[in-house]
Amino acid sequence: MLKRILVANRGEIAARVIRACREMNIETVAVYSEADRGALFTTLATRAVCIGPARAEESYLNADAILSAALGTNCDGLHPGFGFLSESSAFAAETIRRGIAFVGPPPEVIAALGDKNAARRLMRANGVPLVPGSEGLVATADEAGREAAAIGYPVLIKAAAGGGGRGIRRADSPGDVASAFSEASGEALACFGDGGVYVEKLIEAPRHVEFQILADSFGNIIHLGERDCTLQRRRQKVLEEAPSPALDKAARELLGETAVRAARAAGYVNAGTVEFILDGNGNHYFIEMNTRIQVEHPVTEMVTGIDIVREQLHIASGLPLRYSQADAAVSGHAIECRVNAEDPENAFSPAPGKIGFLHLPGGYGVRVDTAIYPGCEITPYYDSLLAKVIVHGRTRNEAVLRMRRALEELVITGVKTNLGLLYMLMFSTDFIAGKTDTGFIERNIGALLRPVEKDMTL
Ligand code: ADP
Repeated sequence: MLKRILVANRGEIAARVIRACREMNIETVAVYSEADRGALFTTLATRAVCIGPARAEESYLNADAILSAALGTNCDGLHPGFGFLSESSAFAAETIRRGIAFVGPPPEVIAALGDKNAARRLMRANGVPLVPGSEGLVATADEAGREAAAIGYPVLIKAAAGGGGRGIRRADSPGDVASAFSEASGEALACFGDGGVYVEKLIEAPRHVEFQILADSFGNIIHLGERDCTLQRRRQKVLEEAPSPALDKAARELLGETAVRAARAAGYVNAGTVEFILDGNGNHYFIEMNTRIQVEHPVTEMVTGIDIVREQLHIASGLPLRYSQADAAVSGHAIECRVNAEDPENAFSPAPGKIGFLHLPGGYGVRVDTAIYPGCEITPYYDSLLAKVIVHGRTRNEAVLRMRRALEELVITGVKTNLGLLYMLMFSTDFIAGKTDTGFIERNIGALLRPVEKDMTL
């Protein structure tokens, strides 16, 4: 078993990894930027090393500084968390080259799946259903237009290197293609250093359903069921739940088998997520595979009782999976709400500030993953996630009722948050009926921001 892990991340996910390590008797080294001096995750770790200034490029994205810290503190493993360098195959390769185990898949697998176009090619060759789209990258707007005409409008122009909802533009007719092409490509070049794009059919009003995979280095691969991440704003997830209200037993089995096939085709090792979108006619399409722990992993933990971070560390230690597919039974229902420091009245733009009073919910069936505390500074340098509130109930209705009361207990002063939106979602009759699609929040944003007389029954 690994003995000392460098946690190459910050905030709640750094705290999450450190907590798992502590339970496993693994020492931890936190790395932090000058903006995170005194942050909760640094105090939970066995020790902490400052790696540079606030700007992520100079700290959490500074591979050399991070690996020097890992070597200087004799770490035998490194957990990348999510975001930052977690999906950099070059970083994973360099970590391994320096004799440190990377808690994630092999670098070649990260590279193959991180390029969405290459991932599509791999999945096509292995019989995994794809959203109809171009065979490969399109080099010019004209070529994109020809592909779009063959596929049928509306289409999405998507960056092969994209992530976090960036590098995706919609084109409804030939007149939209030139600007969609240059915007998607330009954004991807600016954000990811790679402007390659491809064309995909736009699936109208889809649901987003993803499967959690665990794979060891002996070829054993299981899935831990699905998460439904349909509730999004600007292609970014807002609320996740497990199981999905949109799948019946047969569809769940079919998608689960497809997800395992996708992971096997990629030679996958460690925890990963196979993402699908579902149309209204029962069709499912692969969109991408994420090669890291996901923000929303706790909903799966709540319904399976399997600590995914712990399993990541087992797998990275070269041990075989401790669970079979039959062990991964799902019980009850879990919902996660992402509480962000953002201003709902100002297009949900990030709202940094200093936390004043803080009261976190607790009690039966409630879990809060956070690294904030009263008086802590929410800086503008990193993402706006403040806390993840996760609830578990025996049924979906029980989980909804529990989330309502958990959000009622949550008090955060000092920064603006999206708490009101999350709370109103819990009273939406469409959400309660499980009848939503990825455009639901944006279509209903006016009503969701306006507190109305709430019907407290389900
Ligand atoms: P990213 O890697 O940036 O998260 P994804 O490919 O996972 O990008 O897509 C993000 C979201 O965009 C999906 O959850 C879905 O809501 C939407 N989306 C992606 N592809 C399509 C598509 N072909 N049709 C409709 N919606 C899509």
